[in-house]
Amino acid sequence: MRALSEKLSAIPPSATIEITDTAKRMAREGIDVVSLSIGEPDFATPAHITEACVDALRRGETHYAPSPGIPELREAIAEKISGENSVPAGPGDVIVTCGAKDAIYEAMEAVLNRGDEAVILDPAWVSYEPCVQIAGGHPVHYRLDERTFQVDDGLVERIGQKTRMIVVNSPSNPAGSVLDDASLSLVADLCADYDLIAVSDEIYEKLIYGKTHRSLAAIDDMHERTVTINGFSKAYAMTGWRIGYAVAPTPILRQMIKVQQHTISHPATFAMWGAVAALRGDQSCVEEMRREFDGRRRYVVDELANIGYRTAPADGAFYAFVKVDGDDMEIAHRWLHDAHVAATPGTAFNAPGWIRLSYAADLARLNEAMRRIRAVRGS
Ligand code: PMP
Ligand code: GLU
Repeated sequence: MRALSEKLSAIPPSATIEITDTAKRMAREGIDVVSLSIGEPDFATPAHITEACVDALRRGETHYAPSPGIPELREAIAEKISGENSVPAGPGDVIVTCGAKDAIYEAMEAVLNRGDEAVILDPAWVSYEPCVQIAGGHPVHYRLDERTFQVDDGLVERIGQKTRMIVVNSPSNPAGSVLDDASLSLVADLCADYDLIAVSDEIYEKLIYGKTHRSLAAIDDMHERTVTINGFSKAYAMTGWRIGYAVAPTPILRQMIKVQQHTISHPATFAMWGAVAALRGDQSCVEEMRREFDGRRRYVVDELANIGYRTAPADGAFYAFVKVDGDDMEIAHRWLHDAHVAATPGTAFNAPGWIRLSYAADLARLNEAMRRIRAVRGS
């Protein structure tokens, strides 16, 4: 066969998905693996959301919908984002996508020209860099402070003639940290000064502990240059539904709609009805899950400290980001094959020397994972 796409040959598979697949394979072979490598809530989707989807199926919502999403969902999202996040937006500023991942990819396709640079704040979730590359852009990395995980003046040094975009993610996957107001203001100022587009991935906004989430697009006139990304996977335990969204300035949204029309058309129509119920329904399920995650977070961070590990400030999402002494790839390999604990090495997030543990597992399994990690560390 002749050579395939050079662009894709240079891109690695998703580490989070690959490691989890390995853990699943080991489990199928009868090995008792504690899988903490994937960021996925272990709760069932709340029943009222599933019911709304089943109702939609029954009443025949099984056909094509408008490409940017059903009007009822775009309206509910616009109300949420303008009311809760103070980002001025109407239904016409919203696109509903196949998960937040798809929204991120479409935003990159919409904004970047070949060779345009996108600044990514490291440690960064595994798919930002590949999405930039698939869109023909060039990723440029800026490292957040290794203790505070905040932005400092060094960010400006990463901006050059070709910079077009900054990708921000708070609460952060993998660090679990939350950007403070000073960091967000710094990003906003740079976007204004250098005429940049921000992609602000806020998918973990509801999973936050003792801090307040602030949308980048709510600062000054940042809504005019920010694509806000969010979705239902994390807050409502809806990973398999594949519903995410973006709120974007009109010229960018128009381009994203074209990408969507020519690729996926739109997410499953009946699944979008479930998402309407998620936003319009009682929100206590979100708080219940958040509280449960908070208890696990405290347990895991304390246990890791007892074992002798430092973690990044675990203020959001459901990850403990652990500083290890040594090669994170080698240590994660040892945790998986000797201790049967699946975790994701920091190298996958451009942060060698760290390992990400997802605490989206029940306390008994987390307890077992901590026991095993303690045992391999001591051995
Ligand atoms: N952004 C971040 C930071 C994530 O951790 C994830 C999880 N996969 C996503 C986006 C994508 O989420 P989804 O496509 O399931 O909405
Ligand atoms: N966001 C999750 C993670 O980081 C899900 C897997 C993925 O899409 O990368 O593990």
